[in-house]
Amino acid sequence: MTITAASEQAVVDSVPKGALINGNWVDTGKTLEVIDPSTGEPLCEIADAGETEALAALDAAANVQAEWAATPPRERGEILRAVYESMTSRLDELALLMTLEMGKPLSESKAEVAYAADFLRWFSEEAVRINGRYATAPNGQGRLLTMKQALGPCIFVTPWNFPAAMATRKIGPALAAGCTVVMKPAKETPLSSFALGQAFLDAGLPAGVVNLVCGSSASAIVGPLLKDPRTRKLSFTGSTPVGKELIKQSADQVLKVSMELGGNAPFIVHEDADLDKAVEGAILAKMRNNGEACTAANRFHAHESIAQQFGEKLAARLGAMKVGRGTLEDTQVGPLINESQREIVEGLVEDAVGKGGKILTGGERPDGAGFYYPPTVIGELSPDANILVDEVFGPVAPIKSFSTEEEALASANATEYGLAAYVYTTDLGRAFRTIEGLETGMVGLNRGVISNPAAPFGGIKQSGFGREGGFEGIEEYLETKYVGMDF
Ligand code: NAP
Ligand code: MG
Repeated sequence: MTITAASEQAVVDSVPKGALINGNWVDTGKTLEVIDPSTGEPLCEIADAGETEALAALDAAANVQAEWAATPPRERGEILRAVYESMTSRLDELALLMTLEMGKPLSESKAEVAYAADFLRWFSEEAVRINGRYATAPNGQGRLLTMKQALGPCIFVTPWNFPAAMATRKIGPALAAGCTVVMKPAKETPLSSFALGQAFLDAGLPAGVVNLVCGSSASAIVGPLLKDPRTRKLSFTGSTPVGKELIKQSADQVLKVSMELGGNAPFIVHEDADLDKAVEGAILAKMRNNGEACTAANRFHAHESIAQQFGEKLAARLGAMKVGRGTLEDTQVGPLINESQREIVEGLVEDAVGKGGKILTGGERPDGAGFYYPPTVIGELSPDANILVDEVFGPVAPIKSFSTEEEALASANATEYGLAAYVYTTDLGRAFRTIEGLETGMVGLNRGVISNPAAPFGGIKQSGFGREGGFEGIEEYLETKYVGMDF
């Protein structure tokens, strides 16, 4: 489709702007601006919702919980499947909407819409495979029956970096399992969630099963929901500090909690790696989503025999990437989400350079409007650079060399995070030694992108707990009930 100012406006106008409560889009009388990060200018206004709307949404979710859980699994699955079809058929339009509110290039937005829709397809297939167990007790006396039941109303809190996929990967399994939902999308990117909410209504989802509440104060929405005794589950994707706070708030009611938190992924290039393949993987692992991904390669550990060559090749490729507005066809790198994110990225680069790091490409913010930061490679990194411990969430690749396999593994694990890691090697033994030793929930072996709706996504250590996607994904929304029987 040809993108013009008019088509941009049309796609923004097509999205409802209220809170979705019990099947209706509700105005709140207050507004909140959504900003286009490529210009820093407002894109539109949405209704600014708060505690009143949050509790009304939970009323709706709680009221239809029993009915939704009793809806035949095939019917639940077919609604998910219908929204998958709808998202796929409207890929270009939904991608444009996402690029406008989030900034990433259209190609990346299209990939996310497809990925997001695919969670709904996967869980539409899982809805009809919820099973229990039946066994004879070991001593032969009595039978053991195990059944799975929907947990009940779920609270979801999602981030701005993948505005559609972080929503569908929670809503998909919840609906498949028979749970109802109140979701609070990130205030930077509510439009993709609102478009998704409307797609669910259009697909015939009963009122109240999915409710969306976004506002200027996240805590005013989420706090009361976590205190309400009707809530059964919290699933959060976002930063580790906010996650820790929400775990504390969930303790009062002993809520079942899933946490997808920050990452600090190491990318290890062993001396025997296929170097060109490693550079291709590094570009994907670093630059997907402008580097604003929790699975993004945060630090590159390259064997000393190839570190310089790897750095030069990576710098040449990243330095040649086209930075610009995400709606332009040749853009490969869009703006960061906002000014404060840009300042964090800039601060980490300044710290690394101040401690002796050498800029191989990038490293300077451009003039002009929009929150742009260029792809940057830093070599000869000092071990005390903050960028080795802090999540960068931007297009910056720091490279540190190592001399032994043990040293590589120790450096990779020297972080409180444990989400993803990447390993490049052609030696099978070294591959498995490294994989087994890595303290992460996910590993990419000779590949730079690992996300897949059919695989369990999630972290260990301070990257969180719980898994999204795969066979594990639906388990997060099911309660196990055991029945001991004599007859
Ligand atoms: P964030 O500040 O933690 O925000 C995430 C969500 O939490 C937003 O909806 C936010 O609302 C809400 N929130 C913030 N403070 C809250 C509070 N006190 N009570 C209740 N809700 C609150 O993170 P972000 O800056 O949006 O996203 C970047 C972070 O997310 C990174 O650290 C990244 O690694 C992590 N992330 C993790 C995964 C994963 O799967 N592991 C995936 C994507 C991102 P507002 O919009 O109002 O701020
Ligand atoms: Mg925005």
